[in-house]
Amino acid sequence: MTKLLIATQNRGKLREIQAILSDLQITLLTPADLGLQLDVVEDGKTYAENAAKKALAYAQAGGLPALGDDSGLEVEALNGAPGIFSARYSPKPGATDADRRAYLLQNLSGKPRPWKARFYATVAIATPQGRVHLANGECPGEIIPEERGTNGFGYDPIFLLPELGRTMAELDEEHKNRISHRARALQNIRPILSEWLHTLHSDD
Ligand code: IMP
Repeated sequence: MTKLLIATQNRGKLREIQAILSDLQITLLTPADLGLQLDVVEDGKTYAENAAKKALAYAQAGGLPALGDDSGLEVEALNGAPGIFSARYSPKPGATDADRRAYLLQNLSGKPRPWKARFYATVAIATPQGRVHLANGECPGEIIPEERGTNGFGYDPIFLLPELGRTMAELDEEHKNRISHRARALQNIRPILSEWLHTLHSDD
């Protein structure tokens, strides 16, 4: 069966990507399965550059096609911040997801609500030979000042989906994986993934 390496060390993302692609006839491998632990510097100026960089680094290190993603939270009142810096959005060394949520709320305090926001994701599939394909997805919502829910990761407990009246962290995994930015980006890359993976292997 065709193999695809998921180019992330983030356990929350890994779990979601595996669940969303589980019905495809593809063996999904994690970096741990191959004993890989790469430190890819995310110095791109866009989600696409970072996603491609991660996918290419893992594809080359693992010697097989890899799927990488880059994602972030964009808050209107903060002019789109933290955006591509979402994973590092805190001045505190060794900051946790909780520290980053607290820092975001600190920066929003005093600004008029609603704090409109969106999650954005770009996924990239790369071959060891250097071919890359990209797709995007987004999920609109709003930041709220108090945490709700314990599922998911990152900014999920303060990201409200106004139409559902629930935060991303209050949705079960299956529900999040139908509506999230990452799910949408993966849906958008699916046709290419199913078709392309067959030809990818003929490159080997
Ligand atoms: P990166 O894609 O590894 O640069 O990390 C993106 C960062 O954006 C994560 O570490 C989270 O802080 C945030 N993020 C991305 N997707 C989600 C999500 O689905 N829920 C909550 N936070 C997310």
